[in-house]
Amino acid sequence: MLRRLAAAACLIGLFAGCSPVGWHGGQPLRAGKVSNGAAAGSRIARTWFGNPLIWVPPPIPQTEISYFDVTGFTQQQVIHSMNTSNICVTYGPCSTDPAVPNGIAWGLEGIGFIPGLYCSSPRTFLVPWQVYVVLPRWSPPVVGVSVDLVTKWNALERSIYIHEKGHADISRQDLYDLGIQAQQLANCNAVIAFWEDPATYNKLDADQAAYHARLHADCRPEIGCLRAGWLGW
Ligand SMILES: [Zn+2]
Repeated sequence: MLRRLAAAACLIGLFAGCSPVGWHGGQPLRAGKVSNGAAAGSRIARTWFGNPLIWVPPPIPQTEISYFDVTGFTQQQVIHSMNTSNICVTYGPCSTDPAVPNGIAWGLEGIGFIPGLYCSSPRTFLVPWQVYVVLPRWSPPVVGVSVDLVTKWNALERSIYIHEKGHADISRQDLYDLGIQAQQLANCNAVIAFWEDPATYNKLDADQAAYHARLHADCRPEIGCLRAGWLGW
């Protein structure tokens, strides 16, 4: 799964000599303070025994979700694990996001070129792109994790999911619209030139940037925007 996605990410570069689209870095890294939390006694009392369940992100239509594994017993360890996963290196490069100046992302969305498609007619040629999302996956150790941390993790994962799903929804819609445009072209040469033209993706880039601007203007975790220090993340 991961290998396949990495390959797809590489193919982005091969396709357009550089796809202008690339990956959209997900959640900005916040220098959140990690509170010392409750007294040790109450932590022990709230040791996690499998309840609540770890939240599992639901499928996104026509989008392939991949996961990178996160480890840790404490919130600090989980944050460190995500920060050092280097998903912008593994899957990247990530597009520049003013909110993520250091290039560290906790989730990604991107489109990858589907190799091996042949055009016999503009009307029947498929959109040669697939939408991908990369999310963190934490499998807490059976012993030694607090209920509090699992609850915070579930909230974080949900917010990252909402953020990346927003990107994926925009990509799917815009790629669909581009596919309609491509169908109107006179011949397959024109279709290929269309998909290879970086300018073809200008609107998609602008729509993704506008999505970030909307989120940052009204930043709330429930709509997919992490606030500094939210729940200690
Ligand atoms: Zn984003």
